[in-house]
Amino acid sequence: MPGGYARAFEVEKDDIITVIDLEGGQIADFIAFNRNRLTECFSPSHTRLALQSTRLKVGDALRSNLRRPMIEVIEDTVGTHDFLIPACDEQRYWVDYGVREHRSCVANFEDALIPWEIPRKHIPDPLNIFENAAVGIEGTLVHLPVISKAGDRLVLKALMSLVCAVSACPMDLNLTGGERITDIRVVIERRT
Ligand SMILES: [Zn+2]
Repeated sequence: MPGGYARAFEVEKDDIITVIDLEGGQIADFIAFNRNRLTECFSPSHTRLALQSTRLKVGDALRSNLRRPMIEVIEDTVGTHDFLIPACDEQRYWVDYGVREHRSCVANFEDALIPWEIPRKHIPDPLNIFENAAVGIEGTLVHLPVISKAGDRLVLKALMSLVCAVSACPMDLNLTGGERITDIRVVIERRT
């Protein structure tokens, strides 16, 4: 994915999806839909409940809005991935920073998902791969700069056929996504 842009793609059950931070310090927003029932999608809130955690670890499953396991985490070289914070959209840049017509992950997803006719209102909250956020003492949301280095990766296994989209987040108005917008590589492997 070129820095600031998104792509969508289909995978089969048991395919391996590797998301790589090529230069370090880049957040990759990730969403997924059941390819055979597009109203079923990745759900951060259902995942938090199923895991009883706000942190992912190897062996965890991302859950759908129907509470079913969709994707398993099989390798992680970073350890910080967020599923508390919504994807950036036009309003994030306008309301919070006073900037109009900024690229955003939600607009990126909307464009990338046109071939599947998935409208904006059905785009779920994402897994923010490499984003470094957590719940702190007394419930505060702690939002820190990304710690991923060049070549760091999160490896996922599809537990059902999926439509996925990844956006190399265009946020450049705070340091949570690093100092520059850089490319993300996604590798899909089919193990037959
Ligand atoms: Zn974003």
